[in-house]
Amino acid sequence: MIRVENLHFRYPAFDPSGDETDENQPWALNGIDLHVAEGELLGVCGTTGSGKSTLCMALNGLVPQQTSGTIRGDVWIGELNTKRTPVARMATRVGIVFQDPEANLLGLTVEDEVAFGPENLAVDPREIGERVAWALDVVGMSEHRDRPAPQLSGGQKQRVGIAAVLAMMPRVIVLDEPTAELDPIGRREITAVIAGLRQREQRITVIMVESDASVLARLADRVAVLDEGRIVALDTPGALYGSPLALMERGVAVPAVSEIAAGLNRRLGTRFAFTELRGAARALAPSEGVAPGE
Ligand code: ADP
Ligand code: MG
Repeated sequence: MIRVENLHFRYPAFDPSGDETDENQPWALNGIDLHVAEGELLGVCGTTGSGKSTLCMALNGLVPQQTSGTIRGDVWIGELNTKRTPVARMATRVGIVFQDPEANLLGLTVEDEVAFGPENLAVDPREIGERVAWALDVVGMSEHRDRPAPQLSGGQKQRVGIAAVLAMMPRVIVLDEPTAELDPIGRREITAVIAGLRQREQRITVIMVESDASVLARLADRVAVLDEGRIVALDTPGALYGSPLALMERGVAVPAVSEIAAGLNRRLGTRFAFTELRGAARALAPSEGVAPGE
């Protein structure tokens, strides 16, 4: 579904008339190769400035079409090349949800927020109604459809933002740190929505930038670690977080249970490799392999 081939991108120089030229800007993306299959959820993590948001925007053509700058290599979404396909057309294929809940909304009622995208595409009104009902159901916001979006909690706003993207019927949804500005309740709401979406719509491809590694361990099929515009690790959460030391040394967050396993291994000479609490509970349960509560 997604093919990123030797992608390089640098932003334009801030002041091109002075000494700064585009050529001495660093590469924000520096040779990204990535294939993501239909229906896959790829988690993305990495330190601030490692290129996560730039990669997200490159997936629907905002980079370079709205940023300008220098691009090399290609991004393909199915048969569409993001350099040649107008952003408005890309948006029907790849929907982006940004970190700031307000940035994803227009200030309308919940229903109108979600209907806005398909209305702009001149979708048949009856179909718009069906899409809105479906998208609000997926994010669990059906009862709030008549409320003004600005009155909602952060988590609810972000759920509406996700519904607004879903109503465009994209094949790929890109979430750029969708929980970063939310409280713990809002974060749980969003992770539950993503888990539910994947169960219901198994063909939708999801790219999720997330700094909470335990969320990635639970939701992602694979996780890509970015550093200075490069993918420095790409594997299943089990493989990646099962031996967390290399990531920890790079300053990349790993799930708390993976860090605990590494600490126990160091002190006790054990060989634990936990990526989720469930596995840790099973391995550490006192009685013969029966975890409490099972
Ligand atoms: P992340 O999302 O991982 O924090 P970004 O993709 O936002 O990283 O940024 C990658 C690099 O590109 C950083 O060095 C950042 O300073 C730079 N950058 C991001 N946006 C712009 C911009 N609009 N103009 C110039 N440089 C930018
Ligand atoms: Mg970012």
